[in-house]
Amino acid sequence: MKFSGFKVVKEALTGYKGYGPLWRNPDPKPAYDIIIVGGGGHGLAAAYYLAKEFGMTNIAVLEKGWLGSGNIGRNTTIIRSNYLLPGNQPFYEYSMKLWENLEQDTNFNSMVSQRSILNLIHSDGQRDAYRRRGNSMMISGAGGQLLSRAEVKEMVPFLNFDNARFPIKGGLMQKRAGTARHDGVAWGYARGADMRGVDLIQNCEVTGFKIENGKVLGVETSRGFIGAKKVGVSVAGSSGRVMDMAGMRLPIESHVLQAFVSEGLKPVIPGVITFGAGHFYVSQSDKGGLVFGGDIDGYNSYAQRGNLPVVEDVLEGGMALMPMIGRARLLRSWGGIMDMSMDGSPIIDKTHIDGLYFNGGWCYGGFKATPAAGMTFAHLLATDKPHDTAKAYRFDRFNRGYVIDEKGVGAQPNLH
Ligand SMILES: Cc1cc2nc3c(=O)[nH]c(=O)nc-3n(C[C@H](O)[C@H](O)[C@H](O)COP(=O)(O)OP(=O)(O)OC[C@H]3O[C@@H](n4cnc5c(N)ncnc54)[C@H](O)[C@@H]3O)c2cc1C
Repeated sequence: MKFSGFKVVKEALTGYKGYGPLWRNPDPKPAYDIIIVGGGGHGLAAAYYLAKEFGMTNIAVLEKGWLGSGNIGRNTTIIRSNYLLPGNQPFYEYSMKLWENLEQDTNFNSMVSQRSILNLIHSDGQRDAYRRRGNSMMISGAGGQLLSRAEVKEMVPFLNFDNARFPIKGGLMQKRAGTARHDGVAWGYARGADMRGVDLIQNCEVTGFKIENGKVLGVETSRGFIGAKKVGVSVAGSSGRVMDMAGMRLPIESHVLQAFVSEGLKPVIPGVITFGAGHFYVSQSDKGGLVFGGDIDGYNSYAQRGNLPVVEDVLEGGMALMPMIGRARLLRSWGGIMDMSMDGSPIIDKTHIDGLYFNGGWCYGGFKATPAAGMTFAHLLATDKPHDTAKAYRFDRFNRGYVIDEKGVGAQPNLH
């Protein structure tokens, strides 16, 4: 089934009878060339690119719940490539380029909307830091624009520019940044992988690894043993628990991050806005809801729900930045489990176990990385070599001291 404008019109006139399920629901085969554990955005994207770019189709994605039930369907949908450090910036810019062609590539409407991101500046020191970041963005081709207070005011006059503690002094803008429909991204990759022969197996929890003489031979699951030549683990917030089954302890902690959506409002927020003096980011969905979030709940947890102190903290950030938000009613909130690494940057690497590969440590920035994480993990699984843009994301950087600490807060996973 191909999607097109013609198809939409035809289905509208014929009672929508021509739409079938987006993917099959196969039973697991006894063995595969590659098993990917985790049917989130990254696992599905890796399977899609393995099939499409590397011609490998004897692949299964094993998901313990339903496809997209994890963070890929829980995030605040922001995509951007406004990073500073050389290990990160080219990777996220590569991801942005893949986003720009994603819908044509997967023939699926993932609602990629390059509506811009505006990072607000509240002090002279912060302006210097953002100028430096903007330069780094321009070097990688990501584009960046430093805006004066007057320019920001013209664009988003409803912000609190004269807050006594956090006056707004300008902003750093990336016009190519924006949002995408998070579950639509998972569905597009799932459909594209399935169409090429990848088995997407839901309700199939991996409960152990079969490892003999330092080599992985397959996985134990809630639906029995499944053999594999290679296993790629991509389970986001469950990374610690899953890799523990292979006897590995990761430089990762799990924390909860919450998201919030208000009732639907008329269009008011043009792009994504981030508060530079606290932790608060907001955009408006196409249905009109203000979608926003802030800090993680600062304790370790595997629960997919958060606590009230962080709700209060996030809403305080919102009120400081845009007092009008106090008039909107909160409609929904939820939480997801974040794989917070020690330096705030991810890991895409082989492990010391032959045939076992790992992708994780995305903290709360892994949605924007979905296309590039999928492509570079697929590259590693197919070729056994790291992709050029992901070369810095190795396990051994923690031994060598080559950490990629974008925020400069040290080995404090809860602060990244
Ligand atoms: C509230 C919130 C807001 C966020 N906002 C943003 C944002 O605006 N921008 C951004 O870039 N990032 C954001 N993120 C982060 C981003 O969503 C994640 O980093 C990214 O989605 C993680 O990769 P994934 O999609 O593969 O994870 P997931 O979707 O969580 O996929 C992992 C999958 O593994 C499965 N799994 C776990 N254990 C097993 C097992 N034993 N066997 C089989 N399957 C298993 C899980 O069920 C899950 O489906 C946010 C996250 C949250 C929670």
